[in-house]
Amino acid sequence: MSANKNAVHYDAIVVGAGMGGLYALKRLRDDGLSVIGFEGGGDVGGVWYHNSYPGARVDVESLAYSYQFDPELYREWKWKERYSAQPELQAYFSHVADRYDLRKDFKFNTYVIRAQWDADAHQYTVETDAGDTYTAQYLVMASGQLSKPRKPVFEGLDDFAGDWYQTSSWPKKPVDLAGKRVAVIGTGASGVQAITEIAKVASQLTVFQRTANYVMAAQNGPFDEARFTNAAADLVAYRELLETKGGGAEFPVDAGPASALTPEQQRAALDDHWSFGGHALNRVFSDQNTDIASNTIVGDYVRAKVAEVVKDPVLREKLTPNAYPLGTRRIGVADGYYETFNRDTVSLVDINADPILRIEAKGIRTASGLHEFDVIVFALGFTAFTGALDQANITNEKGQHVTDHWDRGPRAYLGLMTAGFPNLFLLTGPGSPAVLTNMLTANTQHVDYVADMLSYMREHGYDSVEVPTEAEEEWLAHLFELSEPLIRRTTRNYMAHHNADGTDVFIPYPGGNPNYLARIYDVRDDGYRGFVFS
Ligand code: NAP
Repeated sequence: MSANKNAVHYDAIVVGAGMGGLYALKRLRDDGLSVIGFEGGGDVGGVWYHNSYPGARVDVESLAYSYQFDPELYREWKWKERYSAQPELQAYFSHVADRYDLRKDFKFNTYVIRAQWDADAHQYTVETDAGDTYTAQYLVMASGQLSKPRKPVFEGLDDFAGDWYQTSSWPKKPVDLAGKRVAVIGTGASGVQAITEIAKVASQLTVFQRTANYVMAAQNGPFDEARFTNAAADLVAYRELLETKGGGAEFPVDAGPASALTPEQQRAALDDHWSFGGHALNRVFSDQNTDIASNTIVGDYVRAKVAEVVKDPVLREKLTPNAYPLGTRRIGVADGYYETFNRDTVSLVDINADPILRIEAKGIRTASGLHEFDVIVFALGFTAFTGALDQANITNEKGQHVTDHWDRGPRAYLGLMTAGFPNLFLLTGPGSPAVLTNMLTANTQHVDYVADMLSYMREHGYDSVEVPTEAEEEWLAHLFELSEPLIRRTTRNYMAHHNADGTDVFIPYPGGNPNYLARIYDVRDDGYRGFVFS
């Protein structure tokens, strides 16, 4: 194709003004590149802009879920709580945008609707839904892995006379649920947070559950000033410390293999990790992700918590997570989730036993009858890993889309670049730890990696970089090998892609953040082994 003469040219285009896009724009601009960013939302914040549902709260400690590229920025922002709620996160990203004057280079309410690689000009031609065309040598997709909401496809939704909302694209105008009869469909990480909060104000809340998930108490509380002071005093050391941690955040050390411990020692380790809160329960025993007996001990601990808390025996039975081993799908984190079901105003419909037939003007009709509501909240999750890329409609020289290339599962060398798409960078892409780690630090690590690679290219006179299929295949084989002993490979969820022939791809890098970082830095130090520059 020939270059569009009316297009405005930039060195780099960044798609998304969330945690990755904000830093990408800053870092590339600081490196002397001309950069423009596009963001579909009305402001910065990415997931934290769109997911402003009641109860939305980060499940990584805010101490670690903060940018660490500028010690001044780190020191000047004081979080209020150990795990920050959405309004504070939104305020933080807004502050970052103001501090580095990032908004001036972003176009908001603007989606990229097409991006085509021009092999002659070595650049992408990018069109937006505002009708403008741009060209850029580099395309940095900071569009997130969980950003394209799964739409509610329930028959009759248009007939519903009340209001309905999605947690993943919550309205920016205030939504008053006080005194309303509310339904929540979906009990994933978003649903359980929304349920816990909505139950406090709704006159009646009915939860429609397909799978009983494991929900941990966050053990939220005030922000720990002493730990903050330590981290801020030597941010480089703190950043290095986080890089040695599996989830990109601090957790109590595991107690070793469960089988090496007495029941009393196991119980002490379980209590210890439960009191720490949140994802700590994923790390009680060193073998809980590979040994089903060890895993079951942790699962039983949560089942016992449900039994202890939920008073109604029928509800208790429905809420008890039995469908899959703990940690093989993302756990929910919400203080007071199980306690919520002791409220007289809260009920639960198990939609396996009592399926949703359709939505009608007055509410939701299940096999057992009509449930009347003023408001329905859908918490159905996302088209993970592929949704935002599909929406941007990126094509290569052959006219192939990224997801055509991924028809047998998402894949990207080091989680950064996919074969056949030169100069296209996927921040926290498939094959990197992504959703298995602290997404804020993972995004900044990828931005730095990409920016360093672009500097390397300028120093060596290269203007394009791509990955050959062999490098991508080798990385995929490595992921497969790492995922093989993991119990989680057997559980269906958004982190695994299953092919019709029985083969599967475990999408995020399952070997832990420290190993991942060691691999990518080794590649970098070896002249970016596997990448091909021209
Ligand atoms: P999700 O984990 O994919 O959960 C979607 C929920 O909707 C599940 O309960 C699912 O049931 C249900 N569902 C989907 N389609 C349905 C249908 N047709 N009928 C009935 N139920 C249906 O999505 P999410 O809760 O939005 O969480 C996605 C990810 O976002 C998380 O894994 C996490 O990485 C991230 N997140 C993070 C935070 C945080 O930091 N605190 C908060 C929220 C989300 P099944 O379980 O049966 O599939």
